[in-house]
Amino acid sequence: MISFSWSRTRAVFQNICFTVIGSTGDMHHCTRRDLIQMAAALGSLSLAAPLLAGVPGATGEQMAASTASRYRPYRSRASKVAQATTWIQIDLGTTQAIDAVRLYPFSKPHYSPGNGFPVRFRIECADDPAFKSPRTIVSWSKADYPDPGDRIIEFQAKRGRGRYVRLTVTKLRAERLFTSLDMAPKEVRQPYLDLIEGSHVLVLSKIEVLANGVDIAQHRPVWVDESYGDPQSASQLTRARRPQGEGVITDNPRNVTASSTWQAVAYSARAPLAGVELGNGLFRSALENNIRYLLESFGVDDLLRQFRQRAGKPLQGSAPKPGPFAAFWEDDLAGSNAGRFLMGAGNTLRWIEHAELRGRMNAVVAGIAECRQGNGYIMAYPEDTFFVSERGAYTRAWVTHGLLEAGYAGNTQAFELLRGYYDWYNSRPYLQEALRRCNWGPQGMVANTRVYFSPVGQPQDIQVLQRYFQESYWLADLKARKADAVWQYPYDRPHSYLLTILEAYLDLYRATGERSYLEAVSGGWELFRDNWQNTGGSISIIEGPDFPPKSNSLYAKLGENCGSAFWILLNQRLHQLDPDNERYVAEIEKSIYNVILANQDGSRGIRYHTMLVGQKEASQCVNSCCEGQGTRLVGSLPELIYSVADDGLYVNLFERSSIEWQLGGEVIKLAMETQFPNEPSVQLKLQPSKPLHAKIRIRTPSWATKAMEIEINGQRAAVGTPGEYVVLERTWSAGDEIAFILPISFELTEYTGVDQITGRKRYALEYGPILMAAENAADAEVPLEGATDVLELLKRLQPVPGWPLHFTAPLMAIEWSPYFEIEKDNFSCFPFIVPKVL
Ligand SMILES: [Zn+2]
Repeated sequence: MISFSWSRTRAVFQNICFTVIGSTGDMHHCTRRDLIQMAAALGSLSLAAPLLAGVPGATGEQMAASTASRYRPYRSRASKVAQATTWIQIDLGTTQAIDAVRLYPFSKPHYSPGNGFPVRFRIECADDPAFKSPRTIVSWSKADYPDPGDRIIEFQAKRGRGRYVRLTVTKLRAERLFTSLDMAPKEVRQPYLDLIEGSHVLVLSKIEVLANGVDIAQHRPVWVDESYGDPQSASQLTRARRPQGEGVITDNPRNVTASSTWQAVAYSARAPLAGVELGNGLFRSALENNIRYLLESFGVDDLLRQFRQRAGKPLQGSAPKPGPFAAFWEDDLAGSNAGRFLMGAGNTLRWIEHAELRGRMNAVVAGIAECRQGNGYIMAYPEDTFFVSERGAYTRAWVTHGLLEAGYAGNTQAFELLRGYYDWYNSRPYLQEALRRCNWGPQGMVANTRVYFSPVGQPQDIQVLQRYFQESYWLADLKARKADAVWQYPYDRPHSYLLTILEAYLDLYRATGERSYLEAVSGGWELFRDNWQNTGGSISIIEGPDFPPKSNSLYAKLGENCGSAFWILLNQRLHQLDPDNERYVAEIEKSIYNVILANQDGSRGIRYHTMLVGQKEASQCVNSCCEGQGTRLVGSLPELIYSVADDGLYVNLFERSSIEWQLGGEVIKLAMETQFPNEPSVQLKLQPSKPLHAKIRIRTPSWATKAMEIEINGQRAAVGTPGEYVVLERTWSAGDEIAFILPISFELTEYTGVDQITGRKRYALEYGPILMAAENAADAEVPLEGATDVLELLKRLQPVPGWPLHFTAPLMAIEWSPYFEIEKDNFSCFPFIVPKVL
C-alpha cells in the first residue's frame, strides 16, 4: 500500500500542471494513473457537473467531452491577471449575413467543464480585418458572464453582416481544472492552487458562425492576437462538428430492431464453463496466487461498505483503506471493489473449490441483496449519482461482471439481482445521456450484452444499446479500417477500453445476426493488431497522450493490464465464432504469457502497465481497473485451454490439465500431460465412457517453425500446419493417446516505432509465444562478437542448465529469461544487439 506522501503528490501536481498549462489546453502527457494519483490526492472526485440556471444564451445542449488531439480545444497563453485582452478572429472569406454565433466550452472527463470560458468579452463582425467600424453581436464588457459549465452557448446576431467575426476577451477566467478541487481539504488543495495561482486563460472548444442554420466558419482561417493568442491551436476553433454532433444526447430509435427479426448466431465452439482441472503448472500457480490475492486484499465488510452506506445500514466495522488511491478506486467508483472480488472469485471457483472463497463470494452477493432497493436498484452509489465520475459505466460494468461470474459459479441469487437491476436501468429517462456523460460511457455497453446472454437476459438489454449507445458512424469507420477511429476516437479518451466496445458489438452481432456489427468488429480487431500491439502482445494505446498508429513507445506507460484482458475476451469471442481460425488463440496465448501472467505479482498484487524496458512496475493492491480485470482473467484461464464443439473438442493451449465434457449424451475425458512452455512435448489421453466418434482438433501454433507430426497410439497419424488446427477424426476408445512435439524455436523481431534510433537496432526475442527479457541489459548494447548478421544470435543461444526457458550464448554476458518471470531485475525486452566482426 502506498502511503500518502506530500513530496510525491506535489511532484504529480507539478507534472500535471506543467503539461496542462504548458500545452495547448489539454492534458497530453498524463496517463490515467497520474490523473488518479492527482485526483486521489485532491480527495474524492464526487461532484456532478453542476447544471447552472440563468446562463444567458445557453442552448440547453451540453458539450460532449473531447479529448483526442484532433478535437482538442483552443487555449490561449496564461495571463497572471484576469484583466488582459486577447482575441480570436475568423475570416469568413466574403461578406455574409450572420444569424448567430455559437461558443462551445471546454469539456473533458474529470475536469471542470467551462474552464477558461471568457468572463468579459464582446463579439463583433466587420468588413475590414482591422475592425475600424465593427458591428456588435453581443457585448459582456461591463458585467461578468457566468460560468457556463459544459453548456453550449449561442448569441443571436440582429442584422449581423460582415466578412470577419472577432471575439475580444477583456477579462479572463481563473484556471480551474479538476472537478474535485472545491471539495478537497485545504492542505491538499493548497499546493495545487499555488501552482495555478495567477493563471488566467481563454479556453474554447469551437466557434460557429451560423447563417440559415449552416456553420459558415467551418474550416475558415483563424487569427489570434500576439500577446496571449496561440496560433498553433487556433484552427481547432473552426473544426467541423464531430460525427454525432457536439452535444451529449444520443437517442436513435431507428437503430432498434425488433427481437422477432433477430437471427441469433450460435458459437461454433464454446468455452467450457466447468469441467477443466489444472495440473501443476503456470496456470495452476496463477490461480492459487489469485485465491490468496482475493482473500488477503479486502474483507467482506470492506467490499460491502458503500452498499451499506447507500442503504443506510450499519457498516459492521469496515473502514476505508487509507492511502492516496482510495479516494478514486474506492469512493469515486463505489462498489467496483465488490465487482473486482466477485469477478475473480466467481471465475476461480468454477475450477477450484475453496470453502473460504466461496463463503465470501456468497456473503458479498447476499450483502448486495440486503441493500437492494424496492425498485430493484442494487449499485453501491446512490441512484442520482449516476453521472458522477465513472459510476454509470465503469462501476456498473464491474458489478455486473462480478455478479455474472458469481452466477456462473453457482450463486443463482446473483442472476436475479441483475435482472431486477437491469429492468430498472433499461427504463431510465436519462439513458440518452449515458453514452456521453458517464466519463467513458461506452465501457458500460458490454455489461448489457453479457446480461443478455446470461440465463436472465431480455431483448431490452440489447435494444437499449441500439437506441442510446450505437455509434453507426464509428462502425462504418472501423469497417473501412480507418485508424483514426481508434486513436482519434472523437468522443472521450482514445483508449484500450475501445476493445470493450468491440466485445459488445460482437455480442450484438450474435444476438441479432446483423452483419454490419461483425464487419465493424473485424475491422477494429485488425486495426488494433496491426497498429497498437507491441511484440509480445501488450496493447500500445492507453488514455492520455496521443498514440499514433505503430508508435509502440517503449518508455511511455503502456500495455495496461486490463487492456489485454479485454483483448483476450474479444479474441475468445472471435475464436468461438470461427474456431478453425488459429489467429485468435495465438493472440490469447501471447497475451496470457506476456501480459496477464507477467503482471501478476505472486499473491501480492497486480501490475497496471506492462513496462518492456528498464524495470517492471510495482504491483498494486488497491482495487485498480487492472486488478479487477487481471483477477477476472486469471480466474478464467482454464476455459481458454479447450473449446467444446458439438462434434468434438478444440485443444487450444498447452498446459497440464484435463477436461471432462458431454458428447452425444456420453461423458468424455481428455487429459493433457505436458511441461509446456518449459518442454515442448505434449501427450493427450482420452477416456470416453464408451467408444465414441469425435473430432479432436489440435492447434499447431502459428509460431511453430515447421510442420508438426502427430502420433496416435505411437503411430504417425497426421501432420499439423503452423497456424492451423489439424482434425483427428475417429472412434476413440479409453486409453487412446495422442502425442506431438511443438516445433518451438526463437524469433527475432526488429523494433520499429517512436523509440527507434538511427544506426542502432533493437530486437525482441521470442521463444514460441514467450517474450524474452535480456536481464541487466536495460539500454546497453549487446555485442555479438564475430558475427555479421544478427540472426547469428539464434544459432548461438543455448539453454542454461537447470533453468528452463533461460538462454545464453557463448561470449555474451547476457542471459535471456521469460519476461513473465522478471520481478525486480533490470531488463530489456528490446536490447540493442550489435554484430561485431573481430
Ligand atoms: Zn487498467
